[in-house]
Amino acid sequence: MASILVTGGSGFLGSNLCIRLINDGNFVISIDNNYTGRMENLNSIIEHPNFLFIKQDVIQPLVIDKQIDQIYHLACPASPPAYQGKAAIMTTKTCVYGAINLLELAKEKNAKILLASTSEVYGDPLVHPQVENYRGNVNPNGVRACYDEGKRCAESLFFDYYREENVRIKVIRIFNTYGPKMDPKDGRVISNFICQALRGKDITIYGEGNQTRSFCYVDDLIDVMIKMMNSHDDFVGPVNIGNPEEFTIKELAEKVIAKIGGNSKIVYCDLPKDDPAQRKPDITLAKNKLFWEPQINLNIGLEKTIDYFQSELFTEDNSYED
Ligand code: NAD
Ligand code: UDP
Repeated sequence: MASILVTGGSGFLGSNLCIRLINDGNFVISIDNNYTGRMENLNSIIEHPNFLFIKQDVIQPLVIDKQIDQIYHLACPASPPAYQGKAAIMTTKTCVYGAINLLELAKEKNAKILLASTSEVYGDPLVHPQVENYRGNVNPNGVRACYDEGKRCAESLFFDYYREENVRIKVIRIFNTYGPKMDPKDGRVISNFICQALRGKDITIYGEGNQTRSFCYVDDLIDVMIKMMNSHDDFVGPVNIGNPEEFTIKELAEKVIAKIGGNSKIVYCDLPKDDPAQRKPDITLAKNKLFWEPQINLNIGLEKTIDYFQSELFTEDNSYED
């Protein structure tokens, strides 16, 4: 049984990961300040004897008196509405101080540590599909910079601790991922479109809907995250993780409407600043090094996610109504 720390454990990806790690027979400690995380995501394991939840901000130094073998560092708001605006400075601090605090902990415990980095390190990419050695096209002082530059700095810190301190690191660059345990209020495109369609509201496309994204189902992502953590110490990444099937946002809206039915119609809203025009991972490295490729296509993944939101929306109170 390994002793594993997951930061961001009450969030979308973190809670899916904690549940998988507990089911695999590990001892799991989760740290989260619940900024975007929800304790109900952990309902199925919160009483488990091998699970411990610590409410803490990773911006603050961490003192943990238990053995830790592996750290998955996920704590960070990930949805543009959650990391922009009044949360921007906090987001940069979370990325930078959070990385330093977790890397110091990894050094103290001699633990292996994985960073959940992002396709946003490529910014609005001029190379398509994105390969790991592409250095990106990020606006360093735009509204997305707190997240994009924050994650770029976190990657830089991970590699400096690897070179200077011999910390065993792993860096994955996650492309848009979706599935059960997303927060209906989160503001990302798949949660917005499904919740809008289920409620019979208009589907809000930002811009003209010609921008593209490639969507990975959460179970595929959790599989490869665990594979990466347990891969040979020499393979540190960065490695792209995502589903290379690419769709325009308009195609996504049409798919969601076709699956859910109802009276929702598409409305076109302002395109947010610096919104990347295209995004699709080249996953050759993950295929070759981790023997992984996604198994769940968008049609199947959307159906599973619609089922999840259906039960979320119609068992909750009205607080998600906008
Ligand atoms: P999420 O918002 O659901 O989860 C993030 C979690 O981190 C939340 O539980 C939140 O409360 C917690 N958190 C935020 N700031 C914190 C702080 N200062 N201290 C402690 N906890 C804090 O988002 P997610 O989609 O689960 O993303 C998890 C990680 O994966 C993030 O690091 C994100 O950058 C990365 N990622 C996700 C995607 C995706 O498509 N889901 C894509 C690229 C990268
Ligand atoms: N988007 C949209 N309508 C929404 C939410 C998002 O058209 O209600 C667009 C957004 O402008 C972006 C894409 O969908 O082009 C993906 O947005 P998301 O916030 O999910 O992720 P990211 O921009 O970080 O890839």
